[in-house]
Amino acid sequence: MRIATLLLFSLALAADDKTGYTDTPLIPGQKWKVHDAARPHPPQVAPGRPLASIPAPADADVLFDGKDLSKWIMRSRKGETAPANWKVENGYFEIVSPKDGRWNMVTQEKYGDVQLHLEWMIPKEENGRGQAGGNSGVELMSRYEVQVLESFENVTYADGQAAALYGEWPPLVNASPQKGEWNSYDIFFEAPRFDGERLVKPAYITVVHNGVLVQNHRSYKGPAAHRINKPYVPHGEDSLSLQDHGHPVRYRNMWIRRLKDHQ
Ligand code: MG
Repeated sequence: MRIATLLLFSLALAADDKTGYTDTPLIPGQKWKVHDAARPHPPQVAPGRPLASIPAPADADVLFDGKDLSKWIMRSRKGETAPANWKVENGYFEIVSPKDGRWNMVTQEKYGDVQLHLEWMIPKEENGRGQAGGNSGVELMSRYEVQVLESFENVTYADGQAAALYGEWPPLVNASPQKGEWNSYDIFFEAPRFDGERLVKPAYITVVHNGVLVQNHRSYKGPAAHRINKPYVPHGEDSLSLQDHGHPVRYRNMWIRRLKDHQ
């Protein structure tokens, strides 16, 4: 019995440790498979320092100002909700995973087209490998993920490293600093448009990681998913979600602006 448990545990670890797959479907419009083991990793670029920590402009919704989680609630995979309960200290909050499953933290407010600034950090003590290396994620409209992961030393499949559009596009370059250092994301996101059941325009995203352009107006093929291509399903504005992947990732200085064209 004990050997069987150990075996299962090692299998689970091995699954998280994978640096890619060969048995997944092709990504639509690309020559690579989802999490393709053969896909090249982008070159590493040391970001400039100090980190540009941009304060919130006047028309932003401040999602976290270092003090409290009043703009957030917890949401389970089944859709149950609870008061936001991740740990707040020293001007940041840290993911606290319950023992019985993972609960994302999501904004009470729903958003469409946005500009988003946030800062994140993988604590020094975090030693997991592959997708177990400080995994979280910024999920626009609770669907379209920008990956959060330790990617300075830790190797995983290219479309799953930090600043990847998970399962779709690796970043143009890898601007990850060492763990224990703060990162910034500046994200410019256009929500997908639907006409009834039909997709009229996909979601587009531009991502600046630590001052370096890493996703340049990329379109999403659909919501982020593991090992598969997930199709678009029509939806309206939705919460910004932070992914709980079981690791104590930290976040701070987070604000969001709704984008409106006044012409
Ligand atoms: Mg993730």
